[in-house]
Amino acid sequence: IPIERIRNFSIIAHVDHGKSTLADRLLEFTGAIKSGQNQILDKLQVERERGITVKAQTASLLYKYNGEDYLLNLIDTPGHVDFSNEVSRSLSACQGVILLVDANDGVQAQTVANFYLAFGNDLVIIPVLNKIDLKNAEPERVCNQLQTLFDINPNDVLKISAKLGLGIDDVLKRIVTNLPSPVADKNANFRGLLFDSSYDRYRGALSLIYVQDGSISIGDNIASFHSKKEYEVKTLSLLRPDEVPVDKLVAGQIGLLGCNMRSSKEAHIGDTIYHKNTSVEPLSGFHPSKPMVFAGIYPMDQSQHVNIRSAIEKLTLNDSAVSVEVDTSPALGQGWRLGFLGLLHLEVFTQRLQQEYSMDPIITAPSVTYKIKLKPTKQNMKDDSNVILINNPANFPDHLQIEECFEPMIIGTIITPDKYLGQIISLCMERRGVQKSANNIDNERVILQYELPLCEVVLDFHDALKTISSGYASFDYEDNGYQSSNLVKLAILLNGKLIDELSGIAHITKAQTIGRRMVLKLKEMIPRQLIHIAIQATVNGKVVARENIKPFRKDVTAKLYGGDVTRRMKLLAQQAAGKKKMRMIANISLPRETFIDVLKK
Ligand code: GDP
Ligand code: MG
Repeated sequence: IPIERIRNFSIIAHVDHGKSTLADRLLEFTGAIKSGQNQILDKLQVERERGITVKAQTASLLYKYNGEDYLLNLIDTPGHVDFSNEVSRSLSACQGVILLVDANDGVQAQTVANFYLAFGNDLVIIPVLNKIDLKNAEPERVCNQLQTLFDINPNDVLKISAKLGLGIDDVLKRIVTNLPSPVADKNANFRGLLFDSSYDRYRGALSLIYVQDGSISIGDNIASFHSKKEYEVKTLSLLRPDEVPVDKLVAGQIGLLGCNMRSSKEAHIGDTIYHKNTSVEPLSGFHPSKPMVFAGIYPMDQSQHVNIRSAIEKLTLNDSAVSVEVDTSPALGQGWRLGFLGLLHLEVFTQRLQQEYSMDPIITAPSVTYKIKLKPTKQNMKDDSNVILINNPANFPDHLQIEECFEPMIIGTIITPDKYLGQIISLCMERRGVQKSANNIDNERVILQYELPLCEVVLDFHDALKTISSGYASFDYEDNGYQSSNLVKLAILLNGKLIDELSGIAHITKAQTIGRRMVLKLKEMIPRQLIHIAIQATVNGKVVARENIKPFRKDVTAKLYGGDVTRRMKLLAQQAAGKKKMRMIANISLPRETFIDVLKK
């Protein structure tokens, strides 16, 4: 198929607006799948369960228009704030997007964020209202929102039902007629943009590439611009949506490249692939995803260490956005500190550890990356080490050494029905937010912009917002650099021993409240034991909260009179089993849940 008849596009939508359903319909209408097969592009179990796409997938469709065959490459994008980098990475291979909006829900925060991503990339935008079959659908109102927010002419908006398969052909026609074909030079030296990777047990890392110029064939010798490493092309395939092996990919096409890369770290997202011994300019890549939220992962007991390590290795082969560092904690032993794009990303990762590898490790409270400027010393002046980055409370320096602290900020977009406005504004203020703008998008809905500290958002902001608004408010955010902030280490001590795994970094105005809450929660969670336990929260060495747990006798058989040996054995066995889920720290056994629950608000 000549390049003039290729179209590369993506569907962008707020979660649940019907992106996967529409993708299925497009595949069905073009004969790529049989009707009735659903959610082809959402492969992972977690994705199906949570209804979110974690990994960008792609599919090539053949569509006949005016008697001619067109190749339509659909690039599926994740639909959640945590993955906005994956969205932009996928968009860089497209010339246009379908902006899909639920005709009942209307424009939501991710619709806005995704629109601006596409708009900023100069992509053609095809506005489509979905779910017009719903009896509560208000297509006119939503068209007005699109006009107010994005200056989209209501006459240009398509109205479809992905579920019922209404209007799908109009969408396909629009793609053919409205989107430009890719700008690519078939005769130039080969250049391919590597925009995603996945891992295959037999073939190693597979790269999803967009062929910008020239062509690539099996047996070619290629090189990576990023690493300068060289490879031989072993396999090439189109995704329709199952892999269809081909001998060659040409300019404008998207396909899967296998070239014996051993790990997906070699498949560097944003890299330019070219023919060995040719000189080409690298394609303008994009910024790689940067982990924003960090958490420690530790085995319940060290016998699971090897299994967890191998599970983490396998999961990260397929998700290069997760950063991994080995970490050792005095209380929890050997483990890892992992970096994630956001809290949902962390949750998805741990859910996959459980579901796919039956691993149930301890996960410490998530933290963001703080920047700390130390008071000058001879040493740190000399080697420029006076500014340090910290994502683990254990590494927070003594307050006497600190000159200034900085924390990461975000700009959050919230769209809400106006009746929840008051409570949402209170929530944002409680989270140290500063309002940047507030505007109506129609006579019932408001769009708010707030600058907020990332750490106030990562834990449970989204949940709080959903609770306040009965699920009607939506939220999205983007990075907004660092800001000076008065941060302290909130240390938790059990019987005078510092437990870094439970400690955190907090804004000074909140340290006491959080300390109080944590101490109370710990008192509730830690079972009484043989020794007396003192729980303390301290800031800069001063106690800000304290609770005690009285000791008790643990012999569960004490109250039984001598004779019944089997009964006694049974009880002792039960007690031993109960103990397994505990972790001994500072001579105190802590239930596994302590570490996870204590920092939840
Ligand atoms: P995604 O999160 O954007 O991928 O959304 P899905 O495609 O998973 O759809 C979310 C929910 O909306 C599912 O329960 C779908 O069955 C439903 N849905 C999708 N399209 C339509 C539609 O046209 N009409 C109706 N009534 N429901 C739809
Ligand atoms: Mg989906």
